[in-house]
Amino acid sequence: MKKIVVFLGAPGAGKGTAAAAVAASTGARHVSTGAMLRDAVSRGTPAGLEAKSYMDAGALVPDEVLYKMVVETLVGAPDGATLFFDGFPRNLAQAEALAPLAKEGGAEVAGAICLDVAKDALLARLGGRRTCPKCGAGYHVLSLPPKVEGKCDVCGSDLAVRDDDKPETIAHRLEIYESATAPVIGFYEKAGALRRIDASGSAAEVADLVLKALKEMV
Ligand SMILES: [Zn+2]
Repeated sequence: MKKIVVFLGAPGAGKGTAAAAVAASTGARHVSTGAMLRDAVSRGTPAGLEAKSYMDAGALVPDEVLYKMVVETLVGAPDGATLFFDGFPRNLAQAEALAPLAKEGGAEVAGAICLDVAKDALLARLGGRRTCPKCGAGYHVLSLPPKVEGKCDVCGSDLAVRDDDKPETIAHRLEIYESATAPVIGFYEKAGALRRIDASGSAAEVADLVLKALKEMV
């Protein structure tokens, strides 16, 4: 039997980083929705070809196509594999669809791990990005500060905040996350399949906590 562990967490909570790190140390597969989509398109799978026709038309890939892709991914995984889903399900309908899709792909949903970070810490993480408008170098006021505050290490230009990293944009992204993903968290919580992790620490600390939660699941 193949097993799926769903990773949940707000933008800036570090779920992709944690999923990748723990996948590397345990031999699990990290399946981010973006990578799954790119892989299916580049390999020209039936779902990938369908997805490509939507993407070429500038349209969103519909859930039905995404669902086929999930089944393809599961079928393609070796027996006994553990897959970390990162970015799917992202709403309640997808969460409800996942169990039957898993069954179709010879898998079961072992549970979900939610990375909790307080909202002000998320805002600090996401809002701390600085970019050099001249050479493109990236910084972060907390985790990767420039040598001289507000100045690019490479070319000395004044650093800027990209539109994506402005407080109002970040607040909007967090609101979208809340309204779409909070019901997914509730869904797994009700099923008794949710593990919450305090993800306020360093990447290494978070990976360690995820690993512990995982051992109780798979
Ligand atoms: Zn620069």
